Amino acid sequence: MGCTFTCVYCQNWEISQWKEKGSIFSPEKLAILIKGYEHECRNLNLVGGEPTPYLPWIVETLSHLAFLDFSLPIIWNSNFYMTKESMEVLGKIVDVYLSDWKYGNDKCALLLSNAKNYFLIMERNHEIAFKHGEVVIRHLVLPGHVECCTKPVLKRIAELFGDKVIVNIMPQYRPEWKAVHIKGVDRLPTKKELEEAWRYAEKLGLNWMK
Ligand code: SF4
Repeated sequence: MGCTFTCVYCQNWEISQWKEKGSIFSPEKLAILIKGYEHECRNLNLVGGEPTPYLPWIVETLSHLAFLDFSLPIIWNSNFYMTKESMEVLGKIVDVYLSDWKYGNDKCALLLSNAKNYFLIMERNHEIAFKHGEVVIRHLVLPGHVECCTKPVLKRIAELFGDKVIVNIMPQYRPEWKAVHIKGVDRLPTKKELEEAWRYAEKLGLNWMK
């Protein structure tokens, strides 16, 4: 539970915006529990909210799993807003990075997610991830943000990685949580906006999907 962002439109706001008491498992006990499900699963997907604040306990859990011969691929499912040091740690444990690259500029990131210095951090972290594992980048098309966000994000991905990463351009935005009260993001993206995003990805030669 919990997240490092406060996206005004968060569709998982019930789990991302506060923490419940929950049940406490030691990393060792959690590793034994996960190991018990290994034969039924195809991967271990670390997700939130945002998993980054839990990284020290995740590392400890994975070290216990290594002793138990756990062999499933590890997926890091994240907003990718973290330090270089965290990314270096992840480089040693993650097989597949599933990231969200939401904004094409710092102003929109600050306004909608309260995230500072967003764009440079995204560039740096995606470059580190690309060196260490397989990368799938998700981009949610926000209403009214095709020119300021979708296009700059897709352009930068094309410049950095060409068709060597998969880009999932997602159409499913809906105004959840605070967004219903915020002008501009209080609506669905139009068909025209979505088609413009997909056409642009095609034009850039990206390896993309809806
Ligand atoms: S990064 Fe994802 S989980 Fe976190 S607040 Fe934003 S949309 Fe919600």
